[in-house]
Amino acid sequence: MSTTKRDITNLIHHAYTPPAGFDAPQQGVFKASTVYFPTVANMRQREWKDKSSYTYGLHGTPTTYTLEERLCSLEGGAQCVLVPSGLAALATVALAVLHSGDEVLLPANAYGPNKALAEGELRHYGISHQLYDPLSPQDLASKINPRTRLVWMEAPGSVSMEFPDLPEMVRLCKARGVMCALDNTWGSGLAFKPFDLLGDAPADGESGSLAVDISAHALTKYPSGGGDVLMGSVITRNPALHLKIKLCHMRLGLGVAANDAEAVLRSLPSIDLRYRAHDQTARALAAWWQAQPQCVQLLHPAFAGSPGHSHWQALCERTPGSGLAAGLFSVMIDARYSQAQVDAFCDNLKFFRIGYSWGGPVSLVVPYDLASMRQSWPSHLKQGTLVRFSSGLESAHDLIHDLNQSAQAHLPVA
Ligand SMILES: *Cc1c(COP(=O)(O)O)cnc(C)c1O
Repeated sequence: MSTTKRDITNLIHHAYTPPAGFDAPQQGVFKASTVYFPTVANMRQREWKDKSSYTYGLHGTPTTYTLEERLCSLEGGAQCVLVPSGLAALATVALAVLHSGDEVLLPANAYGPNKALAEGELRHYGISHQLYDPLSPQDLASKINPRTRLVWMEAPGSVSMEFPDLPEMVRLCKARGVMCALDNTWGSGLAFKPFDLLGDAPADGESGSLAVDISAHALTKYPSGGGDVLMGSVITRNPALHLKIKLCHMRLGLGVAANDAEAVLRSLPSIDLRYRAHDQTARALAAWWQAQPQCVQLLHPAFAGSPGHSHWQALCERTPGSGLAAGLFSVMIDARYSQAQVDAFCDNLKFFRIGYSWGGPVSLVVPYDLASMRQSWPSHLKQGTLVRFSSGLESAHDLIHDLNQSAQAHLPVA
């Protein structure tokens, strides 16, 4: 029998509703563009700027509201906006708070695409930028001028891993009345609390006496943990600032997919365990590198001698031995090895795959051309070829064995 029109309508307007009271560890995947209103009057009353109800898929579902609230708990924030990538989080902050004629300051070791955003889009909108030395709060202070509206910070910086004096830089911005935004991807809300930089918050979930204004996070990394989701968040503690970001986000039409939000929700309960495991493995690998003659400099903020190590200690290690660090570090390979030798070393690793991003189960390696990433070679970095490693969840023993076999074959010690 063929399907009648009435049958199809019944499929769409079915009388059945499942029993209320389903309760389980995960919230479930709520998917929607359209959200129903029982009446027109109800539709007109709905508030779309907060989580008091639902209005449209782009503005939130039970799945995305739940993820936003849990991310606020992770980072110690009060409000959260979800965006489709970490880079979209950085761009959303810029578009929400910067206007034509403003200037944004970025650390010289900033995440490359954030610099590219400033050099490309922002410049075309009449927004200028300057780079500051992340290891010199004085340099940052000297670059703040009447047009400075926003200062980006990273702790540590991407690739070269210098750890700045974050509290001092935030204090400086507050004193000068400039908004400060942290790219908190490395710390993930675990190594330190961006809204409680001095560790003096009166209670869990409250703000401390020194806090960044905005924390942007590439959820793509540790919150996802799988190397399979792209997402970002923008977290604040100031309702007016949040509303400004939220309105910009709504006007730009940025949404995240329900299945992706659910994947991150599923990974969040294990983030602390995973972060600690990545950290331990990275430190074992870094310690191995430190003993190798091919390594002229180890760039890992938890290791003495790494640029800004004392700032990492002050911020992340309130009691000796308790400090956490992400599973990310770089090694400067002696300049006597050619780029071809370093590339061959990377190509012949078995467990380290060649690829961008980090925070997933698979260890990754990328050689970087640092000279092309900086205006000049930083004086605190030795000459050589920089290789960045990101530890996965494999056994550290197997990973060290892998490094050793490829180094012996391709980076011979004279
Ligand atoms: C990966 C990363 C981003 C961007 O995240 P995507 O989701 O890949 O866009 C931003 N900042 C830092 C520090 C990152 O490592």
